[in-house]
Amino acid sequence: MDYDVMIIGAGPGGIFSAYELAENRPDLKIGVFEAGHPLEKRKCPIDGKNVKSCIRCKPCAIMNGFGGAGAFSDGKYNITNDFGGTLYEYIGRDTAMELMHYVDNINCRFGGAGTKMYSTAGTAFKKKCMQNRLTLLDASVRHLGTDINYVVLGNLYARLKDKVDFHFDTPVWDLQFCDGGYEIITEQGDHYTAEKCIVSVGRSGSKWMEHICSELEIPTKSNRVDLGVRVEIPSVIFDDITDELYEGKIVYRTEKFEDPVRTFCMNPHGIVVTENTNGIVTVNGHSFEDDHRKTDNTNFALLVSKHFSEPFKDSNGYGESIARLSNMLGGGVIVQRFGDLERGRRSTPARIEQGTVRPTLNATPGDLSLVLPKRILDGIIEMIYALDRIAPGVASDDTLLYGVEVKFYNMEVELNSRLETCHKDLFVIGDGSGVTHSLSHASASGVYVARQILAEL
Ligand SMILES: Cc1cc2nc3c(=O)[nH]c(=O)nc-3n(C[C@H](O)[C@H](O)[C@H](O)COP(=O)(O)OP(=O)(O)OC[C@H]3O[C@@H](n4cnc5c(N)ncnc54)[C@H](O)[C@@H]3O)c2cc1C
Repeated sequence: MDYDVMIIGAGPGGIFSAYELAENRPDLKIGVFEAGHPLEKRKCPIDGKNVKSCIRCKPCAIMNGFGGAGAFSDGKYNITNDFGGTLYEYIGRDTAMELMHYVDNINCRFGGAGTKMYSTAGTAFKKKCMQNRLTLLDASVRHLGTDINYVVLGNLYARLKDKVDFHFDTPVWDLQFCDGGYEIITEQGDHYTAEKCIVSVGRSGSKWMEHICSELEIPTKSNRVDLGVRVEIPSVIFDDITDELYEGKIVYRTEKFEDPVRTFCMNPHGIVVTENTNGIVTVNGHSFEDDHRKTDNTNFALLVSKHFSEPFKDSNGYGESIARLSNMLGGGVIVQRFGDLERGRRSTPARIEQGTVRPTLNATPGDLSLVLPKRILDGIIEMIYALDRIAPGVASDDTLLYGVEVKFYNMEVELNSRLETCHKDLFVIGDGSGVTHSLSHASASGVYVARQILAEL
C-alpha cells in the first residue's frame, strides 16, 4: 500500500481528517489528493477591469484547491445543530456540538483567536421576530472573515505539509477496490493505494461522487434544492441585527403557500460575488474583518427549499436549469431593483444608477420574474415585506436583488453511524456526502471519521 489513509479533497472535511490523523499518529502515511491548486496559487482572474465576469477556469480557484469551497468564504463558523447539515442524525447532537467546538478551538489556535463569537442566546431580537411571523434560529457563530479564514488555512497547511503528502492539481478520476483496500487513479494516470479511504469532494465533486456511488453500488438519494436571490441593502438598515448577531438565520412561513423562506449567508458591510458550479454562474456573498475592505452595504440570500417527490429525482438539475436561464438572459448574474420587480419591469443600467444602493457586483440589470418560478418569487417578496417590519427599509424600491442564488445539495450517500459506506473503510464526509452543508459540520465530520480510524488502528 502507498498510504495508510488516502483523502480525496482538501476542503475543510479533508483538512480536518488529515489534521486529526497526523496530530495523533505522526507515523501514519497520509496522502491528500486535491483537484485544485495550493492555497497561495488560488487566484480568481475576475478583477473588475480586464476580466469582468466568470471565464469558467478549470479548476475554479474559488471552489477548488487547499481550503476547498470555504477558502474565500466569509468564514462564518456556525456552532449549531439547527442548520448547516444533519451530522447530528448520524453521530448524535452532543458529539456534533463537541466536535464543532473542538474545530473552533483549532481555528482560534491557528490564527482566529482575535475574532468575535456571536450568539442568538437571550437576544431581544428573537421576540421581535416572533411578533412578525419570523423565527430566529439558535446558533453561536464565529466570524473569521475572508481574510482571517485565509490566514488560518495558511497556518494549518504549514503545520501539515511535512506530515502529509499533498498532491495538488491532481483530480482523482476513479476509485476502485483493490486487494486489502482501495486504489485511486488520477487524471494524470497515476495509481495510488491505501487500506482506508476518506472521500471529501464537496459540492464541486458532486457529479464525480454520483458516478463513484453508481460504480461501487453505494445507495444514494437526492430530492432537494434551494433557490432564491441575494438581497443587497445599505448596511445601516440591518446594523442593529448584524451588530448583535452578525448572522441572523431567520425563517418566514409564507401566508400564501406556507412555504418556509429563510435568510442565508449574511455579509454585513460585504460584497456580492459570483460563483461557478459546474460551469453555471450563480451568486453568493463575502465580507471582511479588515475595516479597510468593508463596504457600505450588507447582503444576504433569501432562499426557498424545493423538495421533489416521485418520480422526479434530479433536484440539482432543476436548480441548474433555472440558473442557466439567468445566465442565458443576463450572460451571468442578473440584478434588479425591488421597485422594478414590484412594478413588473426590468431594471436598466440607468435605473440602477439612479438608485441609492450602489451594487458591489457588476451584474446585468434585468428581470428576475422571467427566471424564478412564481411561487418562489412570491415567497421572497412576502419575506422582504416581513423583514421590513423588523428592519424598516428592506422593502425599499432601491433594494437590489441578484439572481439567482442556488444552493445545490449533493445527493445523500447512505452511511452508517461511522460515516462509512456499505464498503468497509470507505468513508464519505463533508458536503460531498450530502450530510453537511457548512464549514463547521464538514470540518467536524472530518475529525469524527479520523477518530473512527484512529480507534481502529
Ligand atoms: C462563496 C462561498 C461562501 C461560503 N461561505 C460559508 C460560510 O461563511 N460559512 C459556512 O459554514 N459555509 C460556507 N460555505 C460553504 C462551505 O464552504 C462548505 O460547506 C465547505 O467548504 C464544505 O467543505 P468540504 O470539505 O465538504 O468540501 P469543499 O470545501 O467543497 O472541498 C472539496 C474539495 O475537494 C476537491 N475535489 C472535488 N472533486 C475532486 C476529485 N475528483 N479529485 C480531487 N479533488 C476533488 C475540490 O477541489 C475541493 O477543494 C461557503 C461556500 C461558498 C462557495
